[in-house]
Amino acid sequence: MIEGLTDVRVYSTPLRTRFRRIDVRDGVLVRGPAGWGEFSPFWDYDDAESRRWWASAVEAATVGWPAPLRDSVPVNCIVPAVGPEAAHAAVVASGCATAKVKVAEPGQTAADDEARVEAVRDALGPDGGLRVDANAAWDVDTAVARIRALDRFDLQYVEQPVATVEELVALRRRTDVRVAADEVLRRSADPLGVDLREACDVVVLKVQPLGGVRAALEVAEAHGLPCVVSSALESSVGLAAGVALAAALPELPFACGLGTLSLFTADVSSDPLVPVDGALAVRAVVPDRVAAADPETEERWLARLARVSA
Ligand SMILES: [Mg+2]
Repeated sequence: MIEGLTDVRVYSTPLRTRFRRIDVRDGVLVRGPAGWGEFSPFWDYDDAESRRWWASAVEAATVGWPAPLRDSVPVNCIVPAVGPEAAHAAVVASGCATAKVKVAEPGQTAADDEARVEAVRDALGPDGGLRVDANAAWDVDTAVARIRALDRFDLQYVEQPVATVEELVALRRRTDVRVAADEVLRRSADPLGVDLREACDVVVLKVQPLGGVRAALEVAEAHGLPCVVSSALESSVGLAAGVALAAALPELPFACGLGTLSLFTADVSSDPLVPVDGALAVRAVVPDRVAAADPETEERWLARLARVSA
């Protein structure tokens, strides 16, 4: 047992739809004097990159989070790279006024993206917020063309359309649509120091990759740009940390990407952190319904935890 922690549980849950090229989400939940924390770096993060994710779990379990400035957080619904009918249905079912649509999925075409985004705009109505996330898939010329085509449906912003800071800077000179930075920050060795001044209009903050709620607040302050808090596709325990960050930010101009539990087939809590009327309550989560992972998954996570926390 790691010092100060009284409980360690491994969870594993199938996703409803393939997302971020994974079909099953898994991780570790740890309990300490301040409550529960989640450690769930994706498997393509190595041990060094995973240390910030561990710091986030330790913060949640041992010291908790700064005092909230609001008691609920508006969220967007998330639309994976599904067909237009399923995309429309997901938006309507969510009750959210804002939607984020995945685009540029490998194996899909520009026409697939446009059909999905059109269906989402139709479901949201003219006043809904519609953003797309390309997960760094495009080069600058492709991004310029695709964004122009998708902006027929009135984009609030486009998240990480291209991979690097230099490409974001070049793209921003050629588009009027707001650009949000995600991967360039989340996978940066130095999230405080990366120069985003010409690269984006919005900063996406994710608690685990940035090393906890306090670390993410420092990143927000360092960049001085409007922020959106998004999940790293966590269980309700990890989502609660994202909600705590969103509740502690001085300004919260956009709906947050924390409504991702709809992608899970099951949660770790009997009182899951799902939006009501498009918003999440700011509250603690107790994982009272953790389905046991298979022994191999359990072993793999405990070994990873031992390496990263060493
Ligand atoms: Mg993103």
